[in-house]
Order: sequence, then C-alpha cells, then structure tokens
Amino acid sequence: MDEFHREGDDLFCESVPLAEVARSAGTPVYIYSHAALERAYRELDDAFSGAGLDHLVCYAVKANGNMAVLRALASFGAGADVVSGGELYRAMRAGFDPKKVVFAGVGKTENELTAGLGERILMFNVESVSELEHLNRLAAMHGKHARVALRVNPDVDAGSHPHLSTGLGHSKFGIPVEEAAALAERMGEYRCVDLIGIHQHIGSQLLKVSPYVESVEKTATLVEELKSRGFDIRYFNIGGGLGIRYLDEETPTPKDLVDALRPALAATGTKILCEMGRYIAGNAGVLLTSVLYRKRSGEKSFIVADAGMNDLLRPSLYDAHHDIQPVKDDIGTARADLVGPVCESGDYLAKDRELPDAREGDVLAVMGAGAYGFAMASNYNSRPRPAEVLVRGDRWAVVREREHYSDLIKGEIVPAFL
Ligand SMILES: *Cc1c(COP(=O)(O)O)cnc(C)c1O
Repeated sequence: MDEFHREGDDLFCESVPLAEVARSAGTPVYIYSHAALERAYRELDDAFSGAGLDHLVCYAVKANGNMAVLRALASFGAGADVVSGGELYRAMRAGFDPKKVVFAGVGKTENELTAGLGERILMFNVESVSELEHLNRLAAMHGKHARVALRVNPDVDAGSHPHLSTGLGHSKFGIPVEEAAALAERMGEYRCVDLIGIHQHIGSQLLKVSPYVESVEKTATLVEELKSRGFDIRYFNIGGGLGIRYLDEETPTPKDLVDALRPALAATGTKILCEMGRYIAGNAGVLLTSVLYRKRSGEKSFIVADAGMNDLLRPSLYDAHHDIQPVKDDIGTARADLVGPVCESGDYLAKDRELPDAREGDVLAVMGAGAYGFAMASNYNSRPRPAEVLVRGDRWAVVREREHYSDLIKGEIVPAFL
C-alpha cells in the first residue's frame, strides 16, 4: 500500500495530503489512487505475460464502478467484466473496447442480453440452458451471433466467507461441470450462439492458491475434452477472486497464483481471461470520515463518526476488518468501537479494537475501502452518498459529487389522490 503513506504525521495518497482533501471535499469521502490501480492491474498483466500466456485481464466493474476508475483501467488496456445492463452501460460510456467486455450473471434480462448483443461484446458467460435459449432467440431476432462461454461450477470450496463463495455444488451459479460437455453437444440446436469459451469463478477474497488450482485443473480438463471433441474453445476465463490484505492475511501475489496455474492453463492452448475486482481496486481506496462525538456507555468507549454502514457496508455485512488510521498521527490509541450515525446497532466500522484515540473533529481513514465500498453504499436513513475523489500524483479531483438532499427524492412522485 505504498501509495498511501505517511510523511511526518500526515497521511498521503501519492503526493496529496489527505487532510487537505478532507478539508476541501468534506467527509465522508472515498479517495482512490490512480497509481495503486495501475500497479495492481500491471502486476496481474505481467504475471500472465511472464508465464508466457496469451491473456486479457478484465476488471470486475461491480467492485468499484466509478466512471473515472473505469476510464483509468480502460486506458491501461484492461477489459471489463460486467454483471448487469447498468454495468455494461458504465463500461461503454467509460471507453472500454466492447471486444474486451465479458457479461456474467445468473439473471440477465432480455433487455440486458439485447444490449450486450447490440454492443457486440466479446462474450456472454452463460449460466443456464434457459439463458442459452433466450440468447439464441434474441440473437436470431436481431440477425446476430452471440459468442458465449459456459459458466461451469467446479464444486470446489473457495475457503472464503460463505457469502463470498460461489463455486460449491449447491451454489446458484453456473452449470455443474459434469453436465457441461453434454450441454455443449446439444449446442448445435442453438444456431445463433457460438460456443467459444469456458468460464468459472469460485469466489472472492481467496487467500489460498490451492482451491484456485484445484478448480482450474478440473475446468481445464473439460476445456481439453471439448477441444478434442472438435469444439472451437478459444477462451478459458478463470474468474476473479484473488484476495488482498486487510489485516495480516498472507496473500498470494498474482505471480504466485499464475505460476501455480500455468501448467493447467498452458495445456489448454486457449487465451486466458481473468476478471479481478477486489485485487485491483481494494487497496487503491480509503474512506475518510470525521469524528463527530466521543462517548462512553458503561465500560465501552465509542467513537461516533460521520460515515456509517450505508457508506461502507463490509464490516456490518461480513464482519470485515478494515485498518483505521488517523489522517494526522499526533494522537495515541484507545480501545473503542468506531460507529456511524445510522439507527442500527449493526452500524459500525470497527468493533472493540485498539483505535486511534481520536477527538471530535479528527479525520480517520478506513483503509482498504476501494472495492465493494462505494459500490455497496446506499441511502439508508436518507443519508446522501459520499463524494469520491481520484488522486494522480500531486493532482486530485472530485470524481463523484456528494449527493444532495434533492438526489434523495429524485424520481419520487406524490400522486394526485393525496
Ligand atoms: C464478483 C465477481 C468477480 C470479481 O470478484 P473479486 O473477488 O472482486 O475479484 C469476478 N467474476 C464474477 C463472475 C463475479 O461475480
């Protein structure tokens, strides 16, 4: 996390002191580092190049879909992994090459499939026979051909949080790997669908290489079998999920991962796609929050901040750990809960931890908040969502305005019968 560092007491993002951003943009505010996004992307890209694998690193838009973040990634040469029509819209508007866009998701609507056909995206990751039928019909109707990869479920335990595991037998995602070959044999019926790839994604925040290797080996066997039966499988999409360090986790590097996967990947003779979200954006962002109050309740000490679960849901949702750092490090530490203003007892950013002993008005940085941070923010409690800022070197810009109260009621209609 070199892009976020201290100079004296001051926390910086690249060459910008974060106290200055907090003062001028207000809090809560998300801050993203252009250099950190680029470094993470290049680490992945270099890992595949170094292993001699033809590849495309896609960015999972759902991790952080801010237009400036997307534009930066598109400019590095990344592809995009989208899971909805809205994400496809963002990716197109941000300047991704449609030939580098893959579209996943178990519940794509007809409108979403049609939009993907219209953009001539690289491929759809198809998750069921019904979806295949719909896609075929829509492609025929529009005089197009849909390129598809079958998403298979390798039935491997990713070993991460249950909410973050997607590759087990009972999961809603994909087609059981054992059934994929039979389905491929039937695909001749779908005249406007071209099977060009196999896709898998076993989960998120993976901290071990072994489940990844196990699933890729299983899926690679399928790829080879299909190729030997004459299918023109040109792409193997291995999914996303590489974990990052939030606390003290031992995380594999992209090189560790790719080197471990290399034999299985190389044997398929296909172009390798990956779709990383958290690895690219997670440690490229922080959330700044100001302390509103300190209070005690019995034995417990609370730091009440202006950011809550509606701004950053991960602690409440996953019991996730985020490092908390003072933006000005001229204070000691104290055991406390860092809580938000939302009317829920589950509204906390850090629980019963040794935290900066912040006074009212101090600014704290919630680290590792670049992925699944703003993306999961809501207006719960009618709280306007925070601003977002992108830093590049010594320059910074607000890349999403803080919402106004008028945004909260946008589109709401009080009917005439009231
Ligand atoms: C969420 C998701 C990803 C990205 O996961 P990360 O853990 O953020 O890398 C990739 N592919 C699919 C299909 C996903 O649903």
